[in-house]
Amino acid sequence: MEDFDADREDVLKRAAAAGVEAVLVPIDIASERSRRIALGLAAAHGEIRTAAGLHPHQAKAWTPAMADALSGLAGDGSIVAVGEIGLDYHYDLSPRDDQRRAFAAQLALAESLGLPVLIHSRLAGADIRAAIDAEKFSRGGILHCFTEDGPFASAMLDRGFLISFSGILTFPSAERLRRVAAGVPLDRLLIETDAPYLAPVPYRGRVKRNEPAFAAATLRFLAGLRGLDPADLAAVLRRNYDGFLTARSAGSGTAPAAV
Ligand SMILES: [Zn+2]
Repeated sequence: MEDFDADREDVLKRAAAAGVEAVLVPIDIASERSRRIALGLAAAHGEIRTAAGLHPHQAKAWTPAMADALSGLAGDGSIVAVGEIGLDYHYDLSPRDDQRRAFAAQLALAESLGLPVLIHSRLAGADIRAAIDAEKFSRGGILHCFTEDGPFASAMLDRGFLISFSGILTFPSAERLRRVAAGVPLDRLLIETDAPYLAPVPYRGRVKRNEPAFAAATLRFLAGLRGLDPADLAAVLRRNYDGFLTARSAGSGTAPAAV
């Protein structure tokens, strides 16, 4: 994102210094700029992998040509998933019919490419689940920046998904979300930045921009919630992420990516 144009390399250095070992950058398939910058980062940094998809906010721009572009991009060695894709009924920046159409088309594409998906869901759990089932989508993936309820989390765990929590987990108002996070099996947990948004406490309100280094605060918070040493939880999360990469490789028949 443009927020990082001025200091992207410094941001990555700070992330590494904070213990961030793996970064997954979603590409906006509708943006040539997004594609160029993300693939450039992945080429230059071994710890960076990418995904590509059309975000639900932009779903009204979906065309069959984008499916071809996505299929072409999937050949790039850094691409490990289709995403972000999904439904956002909070902002409704694209009509819901368009969102469902773009989501279904990209689920079908991911299934045919043998790739997992990164799902963005805001107030849309029932329709996310319905689409996964209607498309018979079997590759799993990550529910990114999870904010939905416990029953939806359970339904998606049953469908093989990992659940990723952002800095929202640390917000004073997020009591319901903390109860969900406390119940997710350890081998299905991930954390993320969702930069430049959603800086965790204690950065929230003090910085203009969230960045990957701050994920260490989310890690410490989640470790406290789960009664684990942060280093032990970090090892668990790393294993989960590596498993996500390996499952993708097994599904598509290519060699595991080195991270
Ligand atoms: Zn998202």
